[in-house]
Amino acid sequence: MNILMVSSEAVPFSKSGGLADVLGSLSPALAKKGEVVRVFMPMYSFIDRKGFRKGPRFTVPMLNGEVAVSTVSRKLDGVEYVGLEHPYFTERSGIYGDTSFTPYADNAERFMLFAKAVPYYLKAAEWNCDIVHCHDWTAGLVPFYLKDCQMKVHTVFTIHNLAYQGDFSRFDTVLGGDRIPEEVFSGPAGGRRLNMLKAGLELADKITTVSPTYAEEIQTERYGCGLDWLLRERKEDLKGILNGMDMHEWNPRSDKFFPEHYSVKDRSGKNELKARVQKEYGFKEDPNIPLFTMISRIADQKGYGELLGGNHPVLEELLYQENFQLLVIGTGDKHYEEKLKEAEKRHDNLVVNIAFSSVTAHEAEGAADFFLMPSRYEPCGLNQMYSLHYGTLPVAHRTGGLADTIIDITANPSTGTGFLMEDLSSESISDAVNRAIRYYKENREGMEKAITRAMTVDLSWDKSAGEYIELYNTLSKG
Ligand code: ADP
Repeated sequence: MNILMVSSEAVPFSKSGGLADVLGSLSPALAKKGEVVRVFMPMYSFIDRKGFRKGPRFTVPMLNGEVAVSTVSRKLDGVEYVGLEHPYFTERSGIYGDTSFTPYADNAERFMLFAKAVPYYLKAAEWNCDIVHCHDWTAGLVPFYLKDCQMKVHTVFTIHNLAYQGDFSRFDTVLGGDRIPEEVFSGPAGGRRLNMLKAGLELADKITTVSPTYAEEIQTERYGCGLDWLLRERKEDLKGILNGMDMHEWNPRSDKFFPEHYSVKDRSGKNELKARVQKEYGFKEDPNIPLFTMISRIADQKGYGELLGGNHPVLEELLYQENFQLLVIGTGDKHYEEKLKEAEKRHDNLVVNIAFSSVTAHEAEGAADFFLMPSRYEPCGLNQMYSLHYGTLPVAHRTGGLADTIIDITANPSTGTGFLMEDLSSESISDAVNRAIRYYKENREGMEKAITRAMTVDLSWDKSAGEYIELYNTLSKG
């Protein structure tokens, strides 16, 4: 099959989050299984042009007339990456904005042009495509434009995070110069707005999201971000397929960010790494104190509200325990960053590193005993997978992809791989962390077995890529 992936970011060329990781791993995994895959992406100014060659040039009709664009392409790991060149992308230093907090004012027009370029690219490249697979809101209008251009191609739309919908003024729709159908708008009569993600959900042939549990959750009001009714309407076409993880980038036997390598059989390197990290960060150097880590955006989604606020200051309470060390790595919400820094001053068993750094993230994953992930919601989540693979048992909320990848040790002592909170609250965080600490202190043998199980869970892309191919097959044969 010929498959065109459409995404605003893809590793190794551009990345702001998990979406880019998926594009960079799923596409080669599909190619390895014999599919012909191209990835259509914007060519931002920061992408290294080395190895790219010129591709088709064409025009896209927009409100102001025919807009000239060009493409460049490069083959990597069996996949052809096609970059769309236009000043909207080639003259911008960011993906969605110059910083992650200030989106560009013309994002509606930028991603309308990006989506509308897809059918014109397919025509110009004379490429007989079977499936166009669109990812997140920036590719939300693609199924509409393909239909509008009477292209005979099947479409799949993947939700990586339902909370980001590409919500713009209704009047922005004139920019594309098309008559846009009612389905792409959301909100009450009189206040209808353009919603690019909703356009994808309405018009794609099939919808997927990145874990089976998240696929169920987004059909409920609590997790549906205002679109649960639509996802219930389309539930026959909605499927959750769990992401895999990058086994080359994240491998404790050969991790390029630390020398203390280890494996399932010989974990002495993990102990050495823990000792070094305890020392370098100024923790008490004691192998018997469980070291917890959190590596994430510092945001409400990741559970910082429950951890730091409310009537029950659970982090404060945990930090008064001798048998608890916590290393927090992340950047984000300034209010939470300040609260963490204040707590760090009061407790020598808390270290807060406000940074986005691969070295630090890899070292912490390798060194820690537990990975704390009290996310309010988690479409799939990658860090709990890295943690399992690094023998760092996750302590997490049973939601989305966390529910699909972690088995609770308390309920399942012989198969468990982590500690789960049924509901997210300050009390449940305290309960789960304390269960983990007790297990660590009182059941060394159980702990070693759980680490072995965690490190041998199959988290590769192979199985997930097979599920996507099955889905593509049902469309192309249907
Ligand atoms: P989300 O996409 O919601 O941010 P994921 O767990 O799916 O969460 O993916 C986050 C990715 O970003 C992971 O690869 C994680 O290791 C990385 N990451 C997050 N914060 C940091 C940080 N401060 N330093 C290095 N890597 C980070």
